[in-house]
Order: sequence, then C-alpha cells, then structure tokens
Amino acid sequence: MTTYTAPLRDMRFVLHEVFAAEKTLTALPGFEDVTADVMDAVLEECAKLCQDVLHPLNQSGDLEGCTFKDGQVTTPKGFKEAYKQYAQGGWCGLTASPDFGGQGLPEALDYYVAEMVGSANLSFGLYPGLSQGTMLALTAHGTDELKKTYLPKLVSGEWQGAMNLTEPHCGSDLGLLRSKAIANGDGSYKVSGTKIFISAGDSDLVDNVIHLVLARLPDAPEGSRGISLFLVPKFLVNTDGSLGARNAMGVGSIEHKMGIKGSATCVMNFDGAKGWLVGQPHKGLACMFTMMNKERMFVGAQGISQSELAYQNATAYAKDRLQGRAADGAKYPSKAADPIIVHPDIRNKLLYARAVVEAQRALALYAHMQVDISHRHADAAARERADDMAGLLTPIIKAGGSGFGSEITNLCLQVFGGHGYVREWGLEQMVRDVRITEIYEGTNTIQSLDLIGRKLGLGGGRLVKGFMAETETMLSRLQSRSELAEFVLPFKDARAKLASCTQWIVENSQADANLRGAVANDYLRMFTLTSMAWMWVLMAEAALAKSGSGDSFYDTKLYVARYFMAKVLPQMASLDALVRAGSAAAMAMPESAF
Ligand SMILES: Cc1cc2nc3c(=O)[nH]c(=O)nc-3n(C[C@H](O)[C@H](O)[C@H](O)COP(=O)(O)OP(=O)(O)OC[C@H]3O[C@@H](n4cnc5c(N)ncnc54)[C@H](O)[C@@H]3O)c2cc1C
Repeated sequence: MTTYTAPLRDMRFVLHEVFAAEKTLTALPGFEDVTADVMDAVLEECAKLCQDVLHPLNQSGDLEGCTFKDGQVTTPKGFKEAYKQYAQGGWCGLTASPDFGGQGLPEALDYYVAEMVGSANLSFGLYPGLSQGTMLALTAHGTDELKKTYLPKLVSGEWQGAMNLTEPHCGSDLGLLRSKAIANGDGSYKVSGTKIFISAGDSDLVDNVIHLVLARLPDAPEGSRGISLFLVPKFLVNTDGSLGARNAMGVGSIEHKMGIKGSATCVMNFDGAKGWLVGQPHKGLACMFTMMNKERMFVGAQGISQSELAYQNATAYAKDRLQGRAADGAKYPSKAADPIIVHPDIRNKLLYARAVVEAQRALALYAHMQVDISHRHADAAARERADDMAGLLTPIIKAGGSGFGSEITNLCLQVFGGHGYVREWGLEQMVRDVRITEIYEGTNTIQSLDLIGRKLGLGGGRLVKGFMAETETMLSRLQSRSELAEFVLPFKDARAKLASCTQWIVENSQADANLRGAVANDYLRMFTLTSMAWMWVLMAEAALAKSGSGDSFYDTKLYVARYFMAKVLPQMASLDALVRAGSAAAMAMPESAF
C-alpha cells in the first residue's frame, strides 16, 4: 500500500519565495485576480482530491487494468466516479478560456496540478491530460464554428480529447504517415487509416471522444510537409449540440502493456470517418505541435510525479525498516537493529532523489511561468524571450523529468530491497508506470535531437544565448554574496562546461554528420543538470534568507542544495568527456559485426 501527501509546502516555497509568482502573474493581462491566496486555495483543493480520491485508485487500477469488450473500453473500478468528481470540480478546464467555460488560470498552476495528479494516479491523469492539449490546439487553430461546437464540452469534461499521430509503420518519423483525408465537398472530410497506441482513444468516462488526427490530403507533398490535421469526433454533433450518429470509426483493440494499465491505449480505425480540417492544409504538424508541446511538458510532470511518489514511500520505509547497525555506532541500541536510513548508501539514494525532484519541480514551474508570459505579456520582446526559454526547456523538462523519473523510481525500489520487487509496496508499479514517459510524446532521444539539432541553431543560437544571458544576470547579482559561493561556484563551473561543449559541438558537427546524434542524450543531460543547478542556486538564496528562523524547512533545503552540488552535479565532468568523445567509438564498428 503506497501513500501520497502532496508536497504543498515545497510547491508554495517555489511559487512564492523563489519566483514571487503573484507579482509576475498578476501583472499579466487576464491574471489580475490570481493572487497568492487564490493559488494556494487551488493547490489545497487539488491536493485533497489527489490524496483522497485518485491515489486510493492507483494500485487497484493497476491490478484491474482497462478492458475491451464488444467495441467498448471500460476503465478500472472507481475511475468513472473519480472522473466525474474531477470534471465537476472544474479541473478539466483549469487553464481554458472563460469564454468557453474555463477557469482561465495560469499554466504555472496547471503544472502543479499535473504533478499532483500524476503522483496520485498516473493512469487516471492521462484522460484529462490529453484533453488539455486538444483544447489548446483547437483554441489556437480551430475555426470559430469548431471551437463553439467542441470546446465547451471539452472544458466541462463531458467530452474528452485524444491525439492521433502514430501508425504501425510510423512512430518517430511522422513523414511516413499514410492516413488519408478526402474532401466531401461540404467543408467536411472523409478520414481513413489506422492509428496505434492512442492514449485515451476511448473510455467509459465521457459521452464523446474528440480525436485530433494527422492525415494526408490527396494533393499532399511527400514527407512531413504534406500532413494536415483533422478533428474527428466519435459521435457526430447535431446543430443543437446534442449527440448524433456514431462516426465511421472505432477501437480495434487495446494494448496489454508494462505499466499505466488504467490508461486505455487504443488501436483506432478510421473508416471514412467524418472530420473537419484544423488549421491550413499541409500545415497540420505545426498545429499538432501546439498540442505536443503541452503534452511534452505534461510528460515531464509525469516523470517528476513518480520520482516524488517513490521518494515519499522510500523515505517512510527507510525510517521503519530495521537492518544492520550504523557504522559510527548504534543509533537505536534498544532496538534489534537500526533503521536503514542510518546507512550512507540509503541516505545517498534518498537525497539524490530529493535533490533531483525539488530542482525539477522548480525548473518545471519556471518553464510554465515562461509559457504564461509568452502568451500574455504586454511587451512583444518579453513574450518572445519567454517563448524562447519555454521552447528551449520543453525537451529538457520532458526528457529530464522522465529520465530521472526512471532512475529515481529504480533507486527508491532498491531502498526496499526484495520488498520493492513484490507488488504489495507499490514500488514496482512506479518503475513500470514511469517507464513509458521516456518513450511517448517523442522518445527521449527525439527530445535530445530536438534540443541539439533544432533548438541549438534556431535564430543563430538565440535560445541558448537567452539561457546564458538569463543565468549571467543571476551570477552578476549574486557574485558578491560570499555566503552563497558554495552554490554559485559549482553552478558557474557547470554553466562553463555546458557553454564550452555547446561551442565544441557547433564547431565539430559540420565535419561529422553523426556527431550530434552520437552525443545528443549526453548533451541534453548536461543542459538538464545545469538548469537544475541554476534552480538550486535560486532556492538556496531564498532558503538562506530564512535560515535560522526556527523553521527547519529552510535549513533542510540547504542540506539538499549542498547534496546536489556535491553528489549530483559532478556528473557534468563525465558528461563533458562523453560529449567530447564524439561519434567515432559508436560508428567505427561495421554493421555486420553487430
Ligand atoms: C502506452 C503508449 C501510449 C502512447 N500514446 C500515444 C498517443 O496518445 N498518441 C500517439 O500518436 N502516439 C502515442 N504513442 C506512441 C509513441 O509516441 C511512440 O511509441 C513513440 O513516439 C516512438 O515511436 P515508435 O514506437 O514507433 O518507435 P520508433 O520510432 O520505431 O523508434 C524506435 C527506436 O529508434 C529510435 N529512433 C527513431 N528515430 C530515430 C532517429 N532519427 N535518431 C535516433 N534514434 C531514433 C527511437 O528513439 C527508439 O528508441 C504511445 C505509445 C505507447 C507505448
């Protein structure tokens, strides 16, 4: 049996004390009323829902899984009632425009909601999670008619969204996709093709599922430049908004998979289903990226959520499990043995997890605030700067959150010894559940190629220059603060390594076509660690201001900050060496020798 307590104190610390979010957010048009009190109230309500309603369904949902019978997907027991409560609480439309019934709240808050929901029940979170991306894409690229017809019900949670990219022969390389759309002559299209691995492709939670589907028009250019986006509802919608005929589409089967068993992963067959174009013909991939960028951040939040859950449960276990004695003398002589938390190795595992989770939470919150600024700031230059930062950080949040999620759930499983490997304690579920976050929404390798192949060169390196300028401003501000030197100097060193490796990659990749691909994952990890160190400097600064106040929270923060600098960040040295080793060792051996 696992337990989950939403880390509200830490969330508030980051929101209010590190980033002064109230000041930034209330200055944005439309967010004038988003005061600290409003944000705290939202977080508290969400925490209750996650702890009391969603988390109790996590292990039972895994055991039972989804079922598929007579064309109908059924979610595990309790999901339907929980979803109703979730929708009635207005959580589906948290960030959606009030014009369509949404609450119009910041993406920053939505990040915390995604993290809490993910920790409580990763599978459940996918249903509303996919809807959110659908709403965003529709809001940005849909016609007024499509928005009017579909958004209010998506916002209320009566309907749900799904994202249809993947086909049997077409995963990372979307240029290969074959699904087709032919104009009906009345403004609608006939969409045909098979999509696989579609999360929340169908369920018994809602009355209608609104699919965003990538397909090709008859005159489409080859490759990814010939892809259009279509909205295809499970049930057609009458002019009065009521549900009409069943569309020519359905679920072929659901996948039996390693984890997230409460989330239905569907094969979708579109057999001339009626759909409507979203955005311009052949520009569908760009429209879909509105959804994908949101979902990539969401997947990062999922990774962080499982690290948090694993850390909480492993810490409780380590304080309780008695094995061996502390090397420097028994700590609990009256007991048969000391709790395993006395052992340096167990402390290493727990502190590693905590140092990573808290930095990633801060980084994800920061990135989501950049999204808010990029959407709403009155000044165009500020919007562009924020958009650049959010774009740069998206692959880092996605791959960093999920990659560390796998690493940390595994470390925390190890804290349980053999008890981690059996079902009862829930750790093996976390390891299984989080594994998909490294794969879907573009594998982590695809994220690292996005960073090194696209984001690095964009606008003559404008995004990386923006990151360096932002962190330089912080370094200048803190350079005379000797009490922060133990945090600032390791960060400065990591930042210098990152800058130097970036330069090295740019200089050497022209002569070696395989260089970027060979070092992309290591480079992304360097960027992730440097960004996390940046967050730790900011958190240490805020904590130091209150250290000695009698509130142990701040002193604890500093212990964790020191752990990060001493025992996590030094990975930069080996990553630096790995990047500079280039592609030769990976590419030298002939394919036939494998
Ligand atoms: C549970 C689950 C839920 C999913 N949900 C959805 C969903 O809702 N909607 C949807 O459309 N899809 C969904 N997917 C599909 C998912 O996004 C893809 O599985 C993923 O993008 C990878 O595609 P693929 O499986 O075809 O692997 P492939 O693309 O065949 O990749 C195989 C391996 O090759 C690597 N690779 C591929 N190309 C390159 C390259 N150019 N350079 C270096 N390495 C490369 C990959 O990183 C990977 O390791 C889901 C998948 C699963 C398992």
